[in-house]
Amino acid sequence: MNENIIPHSFQVARTDREKLMGQKGCLLWFTGLSGSGKSTIANQVELRLFELGVHTYLLDGDNVRSGLNGDLGFTDQDRIENIRRIAEVANLMVDAGLVVLASFVSPFISDRQKVRETIGEDRFVEIYVNTPLEECERRDVKGLYAKARDGKIPNFTGIDSPYEAPIKPEIELQTMGSSVEESAREVTDYLASFMKQ
Ligand code: ADP
Repeated sequence: MNENIIPHSFQVARTDREKLMGQKGCLLWFTGLSGSGKSTIANQVELRLFELGVHTYLLDGDNVRSGLNGDLGFTDQDRIENIRRIAEVANLMVDAGLVVLASFVSPFISDRQKVRETIGEDRFVEIYVNTPLEECERRDVKGLYAKARDGKIPNFTGIDSPYEAPIKPEIELQTMGSSVEESAREVTDYLASFMKQ
């Protein structure tokens, strides 16, 4: 940080905001291949939380890449900057007391580790949406795998760009063996015990 930037000490702190909202801010980070089910499950989790009266916000590629990160592409360098900015925005939202759901392929272990460090170990929940590449390709929700196989999308994760699976995620969801509702419940159950800590 620039030596001339000295943070002001404001009188309303995160703990005060959290007390007012009756919840603990945290970041639920969904990672996995394109088409693995991140957005579908995150949407279902947010819906359940909303019904329970939890204050949330969902960040995903569509609302970030079209605005804040509209200047970034998919090279390794741009992917790193994409995740760095998302982490900073999420950190502000967590500081505001929100339960933030983030749904991003985020293929690199080192980037996800940096997000964890930005947010803090005790407020970061890494959720690995584990769906085999063959199944993601079969679903091909957005037709992107077909295009990537045709060489029309360079640097596509799983095809010609690597996906580094989490080694010790807080939650691992196998979407082949469970429904969207079951996966969402696993996340909300985890969150319920987390909120009590
Ligand atoms: P991502 O956000 O990871 O790119 P999406 O959520 O957009 O993936 O797409 C996943 C697709 O897989 C959706 O069409 C969803 O309906 C489908 N799907 C099928 N079974 C499951 C499951 N058990 N969990 C999550 N998604 C599933």
